[in-house]
Amino acid sequence: MMGSGRGGSRRRRDPPNGSPAPESPGRSAPSTLAGIGYDSHRLGEDRKLILGGVEIPHERGLEGHSDADVLTHAVIDALLGAAGLGDIGEHFPDSDERYRDADSLELLGSVLRTVSAAGLRIVNVDCTVVMERPKLGPHRQAIRARLAQALGLEVARVNVKATTGEGIGFVGRGEGVAALAIASLEER
Ligand code: MG
Repeated sequence: MMGSGRGGSRRRRDPPNGSPAPESPGRSAPSTLAGIGYDSHRLGEDRKLILGGVEIPHERGLEGHSDADVLTHAVIDALLGAAGLGDIGEHFPDSDERYRDADSLELLGSVLRTVSAAGLRIVNVDCTVVMERPKLGPHRQAIRARLAQALGLEVARVNVKATTGEGIGFVGRGEGVAALAIASLEER
């Protein structure tokens, strides 16, 4: 949806005395905004394992009100965080039947429209999936491409990393999957 062109004016200012340029009261104008996101979901039977919109073949999947795409949920929270717009639970409450089995990429699309309406665009997204099994390596590029497409970004601006729980904690015991994300936004 959003173009990847890098045109437009930069808002960098270098006042001669080195002090910040005056802005409207109470509102600073940073050139970039960073946000973090974290999510975890329980692994269970008879569920699909969907990460970044990609279905990963596995005997178990993630449980949740929506499609439980833990990675996309972390990305959504990173974007909302960078934009100062709260969190995923505020925007898509799990008490709302509209979001039962929701496609998380559709929720992401809604968030992108909100972020865009706030006058912001995404610079890059980086994320990490913490999962014991299956190994994410063979699926990493597909997830990266799918997320980049959904975010309207070049693949180079979206990074997907994977690590395991080293056999410890809820991830290591195979009880669940966690994901972390960071997003950087800039004013359009
Ligand atoms: Mg979630």
